[in-house]
Amino acid sequence: MYKLVNLVRVFFAGILILALTGCVSAPPVTPKAAQNLRLYVFNCGTIDVADISVFHPGIGKGEHKRLTDSCYLIVHPKGTLMWDTGLPDALINIPEGKTVYNLFTMHVTRTLASQLQEIGYAPDTINYLGISHMHSDHIGNVNLFPKATLLMQQEEYAAAFGPEPGKYGFSPENYPTLHANPVKQLTGDYDVFGDGTVIIKRTLGHTPGHQALFVKLPKTGNVLLSGDLVHFTENWEHKYVPGFNYDKAQSLKTMDEVAQFLKDNHAVLWIQHDLEQNQEIKHAPKYYE
Ligand SMILES: [Zn+2]
Repeated sequence: MYKLVNLVRVFFAGILILALTGCVSAPPVTPKAAQNLRLYVFNCGTIDVADISVFHPGIGKGEHKRLTDSCYLIVHPKGTLMWDTGLPDALINIPEGKTVYNLFTMHVTRTLASQLQEIGYAPDTINYLGISHMHSDHIGNVNLFPKATLLMQQEEYAAAFGPEPGKYGFSPENYPTLHANPVKQLTGDYDVFGDGTVIIKRTLGHTPGHQALFVKLPKTGNVLLSGDLVHFTENWEHKYVPGFNYDKAQSLKTMDEVAQFLKDNHAVLWIQHDLEQNQEIKHAPKYYE
């Protein structure tokens, strides 16, 4: 367990230099007004895992699996919310990918900055920054959004900026600008725009203050963006918990609660790291309504 936590920490630390070498911000553009709710999906990198058993202990030892790294923009008539920020855009400068600990190889083939620019949203115009959790494959580009109000469970914020972030697999060197962002610390579910269409769901377990995002799209239907509640479909179907989760019992309890929530709300789970599922999902500049 300790070794796994360490290993994951090394993985996250490995992203550090890339995060710091920076990303070129898109030139300012005026955000387009949206009359209806929209959800854009971005490809924010891939992660090749050399031994998938780190995600389900004892199963698939030595097997390779590619994960995707997704991030999202929600455009609401009352504002915009960026949900997770993926791997650092600077990885695009390493076409062969960056391998850490002989286990994870990360690639970025399109920057988040360029994908936002393509749809006409400059990062510094984004109103809210929702981060599922503070692991480095979700916060790689937080530095693009220094003006956005960070929406985060208070336990996650305390872990990220407290005395022992490394204990949770967090590396503060990867998010040096984030403490200066305006912040709203959450203690439960949170209705971002006040009309019930975009709700942050408190889904603890993977990390101390992990959260997911529920979006009620009028045409598409109800979607829950997973964060790292699970990493791929097999783990969801079998309720496997990665060895490096913060709290295994809480992770299992949360998965049961989410399964019930999906049923009650006729919602579909979009698993952010699931490559196969994401191949069926349309990406920006297309969007869901
Ligand atoms: Zn992740």
